[in-house]
Amino acid sequence: MLGANVWRQMLGVDKATVIESVGIDEEANAVVACVRPRKVTKRRCGRCGVRAPGYDQGEGRRRWRCLDLGVVMCFLEADSPRVSCPTHGPTVAQAPWARHGAGHTRDFDDAVAWLVTHTAKSTVCELMRVAWRTVGSVVARVVADGRAARDPFDGLSRIGIDEISYKRGHRYLTVVVDHDSGRLVWAAVGRDKKTLNGFFDLLGSERCAKITLVSADGAEWIGDVVAERAKNATLCIDSFHVVQWATDALDEVRREVWNTARRSGMTGHAAELKGCRYALWKNPEDLTARQEAKLAFIAKVNTRLYRAYLMKEQLRIAIRTKGVLSLTMLEAWLAWAQRSRIPAFVELGRKIRRHLPGIEAAMINNLSNALIESTNTKLRVLHRMAFGFKEPEHLIALALLDRGGYCPALPGRG
Ligand SMILES: [Zn+2]
Repeated sequence: MLGANVWRQMLGVDKATVIESVGIDEEANAVVACVRPRKVTKRRCGRCGVRAPGYDQGEGRRRWRCLDLGVVMCFLEADSPRVSCPTHGPTVAQAPWARHGAGHTRDFDDAVAWLVTHTAKSTVCELMRVAWRTVGSVVARVVADGRAARDPFDGLSRIGIDEISYKRGHRYLTVVVDHDSGRLVWAAVGRDKKTLNGFFDLLGSERCAKITLVSADGAEWIGDVVAERAKNATLCIDSFHVVQWATDALDEVRREVWNTARRSGMTGHAAELKGCRYALWKNPEDLTARQEAKLAFIAKVNTRLYRAYLMKEQLRIAIRTKGVLSLTMLEAWLAWAQRSRIPAFVELGRKIRRHLPGIEAAMINNLSNALIESTNTKLRVLHRMAFGFKEPEHLIALALLDRGGYCPALPGRG
């Protein structure tokens, strides 16, 4: 047999682990290393790490999956006794090679978590020989570990609060991002005052007082909770959401124009209008030649819809212009909206006027919308990826892993 030091390197365990023997399990076609913690007499609670007296033998002997040795699967095998923790009662004792409750070693967990943020779902499953559901639990463990190791709310001062739909828009997550670090710091299922209060409860009154700026989409439930819990914060409405309102108003005009064309028997015109949704949506600099042609077509045949499009674009430019000019442009835009005689835009103008202090606060504080926008886009991608996870908590863990800075280094390269 190879020396214990060589095996320790290959199995990725440190000196807290004693390797008793290594053999082949013919049936499982795997290498199995029998191990034990070095200080068996000093057992610790698997949950809190506090030293605790033994309780019983628990499940007895069990195995933890390690990283493959070349092409062969590999397991660690050891006793898995329970200790009597003063806080947690009878709990499985800490194993130095694995996270609590895991069926895989730390290195295996870390490799899976790293892969999830760097490659496709099917690649992870095939390469690591694990089910996608297992990946959900691995990610949840890795993120929980990372959040326990360092305070995820440390130094928070300028935050963004947003809601993101999942399950085809039937369920929502409330998410919090840190404008300074660019990270996602918290997410939870739900979009109501109770959910958001949960975040401020975790933050505690001292850290709540240090929040100086909160950006959001103008939703009342967010504004109310922020006013009550973060008393030193200025509430801003970031430009991403204002542009989103304008896009919604434009879509309303498009649907209305389309319905009119359809009802008056202009089926050809209705079909053409239906096909131009993306051309109206996209920023003009991102349009394809075909979409540009569609836009030119609208300009010619439907002045009302084209006017609505121009108003959306003008608002987008006004709100993203830096400095005082932006406020001047916004005032001009509001006057235009008011006399536009397009109900969706008259209403949008009123909404913007109602939220003007918040919109101006975002401009004055030079708040970039890029973070909220990229978080929004990225979470949508992750949501598709998380399809197949059992728990919404696993979707949240995946989001935090990727956007919260919890992706571990690949084992052996940290
Ligand atoms: Zn404990």
